[in-house]
Order: sequence, then structure tokens, then C-alpha cells
Amino acid sequence: MLEKLFRLGYPKTFAERYYKLWGERALSIVQAMENPLPRCFRVNTLRIDVPALTKLLNKKGFQFKRVPWAREGFCLTREPFSIASTPEYLGGLLYIQEAGSMYPPIALEPKPGEVIADMAAAPGGKTSYLAQLMKNKGIIYAFDVGEERLKETRLNLSRLGVTNTILIHKSSLYIDELGIEFDKILLDAPCTGSGTIHKNPERKASRTMEDVKFCQNLQMKLLEKGLSVLRKGGILVYSTCSLEPEENEFVIQWVLDNFNVNVNVELLPLKYGEPALTNPFGIELSEEIAKARRFYPDRHGTSGFFVAKIRRI
Ligand code: SAM
Repeated sequence: MLEKLFRLGYPKTFAERYYKLWGERALSIVQAMENPLPRCFRVNTLRIDVPALTKLLNKKGFQFKRVPWAREGFCLTREPFSIASTPEYLGGLLYIQEAGSMYPPIALEPKPGEVIADMAAAPGGKTSYLAQLMKNKGIIYAFDVGEERLKETRLNLSRLGVTNTILIHKSSLYIDELGIEFDKILLDAPCTGSGTIHKNPERKASRTMEDVKFCQNLQMKLLEKGLSVLRKGGILVYSTCSLEPEENEFVIQWVLDNFNVNVNVELLPLKYGEPALTNPFGIELSEEIAKARRFYPDRHGTSGFFVAKIRRI
């Protein structure tokens, strides 16, 4: 079994970790990441409604099936030519987005009129979904440190007709300088991306445990900062596209153990995915953590990712 993981290009440390976490299933998880993900898109309801766009695309020969957890999400089963070259795409009627990436904005349940922070926004896939669910009403403060990625975000938001978002080119570790208490916060955290090997196969070999530790440290700091500017009763959704418990369950456990205001982990609004791990590597975590979800490439046909909903009480 370990031999097979080595042959697929995983170094010893990660092969052994995955075997400890998932036993024989580790192979199906990594094997699923050898195949490309289906191309999926989200109807941009700021510009068109779902039936109108699906009709337009069907007429051009595109076929697709629904993303189970996203009313506006579809994955292509027939793409006669690149959907990115259609006037529908260029005119901002749709956004190409991985099915898994549609889940965190839905989990946050944003409402028109709310004041929301997106702490790691570029290139804007989730920000624009939040704006769409808010019907462009209320306000989103969207942070990112990547200058080029922010340029792309600006183009995406403008193509999609998003008008309720302020882009801020700064680390969201400084979010408190705005002096705002947020109703809701999305922290789609920077991570090692070990659930996205389909797109980035070089990460199998290039990623190290130092990278995992580095990301964990940043994730904890961002989460601590985010919770400090969340109003009482407010919700923070934390997500990553990493498979590593250190970037997921252990970060949430750290919040439960160390944070100086009270927080609860809550059930997500949609029951997709699998419960998060409560005993990774034999380390016992709070049962509450099982309320967070994991999506796996082998069972859910998505990148590997993790989503947790935290309420400040
Ligand atoms: N939410 C985005 C989307 O759906 O399109 C993807 C975000 S990506 C997973 C993580 C982002 O975090 C990267 O764009 C990276 O530039 C940004 N980032 C890293 N450190 C940051 C920090 N300290 N403050 C804000 N953004 C940061």
C-alpha cells in the first residue's frame, strides 16, 4: 500500500501520514486526485436567473448536472467548445468555479444588508458568490496580500457586476484597524493545498511538514484575529483545501482550547461531506469538531477540503 503511494509520487512522510489517517482508503483518495476535476460553473444570479442561463447554454450544446449543495452550481458533462470563450462567460453571466469551492459561501448563509469580511479573497470566487447571495446589498470587505491576484479579483468582480465589495490590498491580520464588528466572516485560509493535487501535481513532492506548520501558524493567527472582530452571535466559516489535520481539525481545536471569547462549532446548514476527524493520528479531539465537514476527492468528486462553522457566543 505504502509502495503504491510512493509510486504515485508521495514522499514517505505524507504516504505514512495518509495511511495512518485513512488506512487502505488513502490510496483511493490520492488516486482520485490523479484525474482532472470536472469543469463546473456557477450561474451569476446578479446578471441572469438559473433557467435562463441553462437554456442559453443548452442551445449551444453544453450539458451539465447540478452541484448537489449549490442551487446555482453545475458541472459540465458535455463541453463542445470552451465555456470560457462564450459570450455568457465573457459577459459575466457565469463564473467557472470548482464544485467544492461553492460550499463555504453557502455555509456562511450571507443575507442582503449584512456586513461581511472575506479574509483571503483572491481571485474572488467565493467573494462573488457571497455578493450574489447578498443580492449586492450590504457590504463585503475583501482582503488579500497577492497584488497580481487582486488585479484578477478586480476584473472578476467587475465582469460579474459585484458592487457591494471593497477590495483591500493588505494582510487581514490588520482587519481590526477597520474598527468594524462583522456580522459574518469567511476565512478561506491560505494552506498547503494538499487537496488540490489534481491541479497542482508538483505539490506531492514539494510540500513539506515545515510548510504545514507554517500554514498552521498563519491560519491560527488569522482565525484569532477574525474572531476578535466578529460580533457576538456572529458566524465565521473557516475553510481550506488541505487534507492535513494540522491545518483543519487541530486549528479548530486550538480555537476551542485557547480563545478568550466563547465560541461554538455548529452544524453546517447542508449535510454534505463527511464529519471532520475527531481522532486523527490517535489524538483525541473535542466531539464538537465532528460538526465540521470534510469533502474527499474519492467520494465527493471534489478537491479535498474542510469547512467549519464557528459561532461567537
Ligand atoms: N477565497 C479565494 C477564492 O475563493 O477565490 C481563494 C483564496 S486562497 C485559498 C488563499 C488566499 O490567501 C491567497 O489568495 C493568498 O494571497 C491569500 N493570503 C495569504 N496570506 C494572507 C493574509 N495574511 N491576509 C490576506 N490574504 C492572505
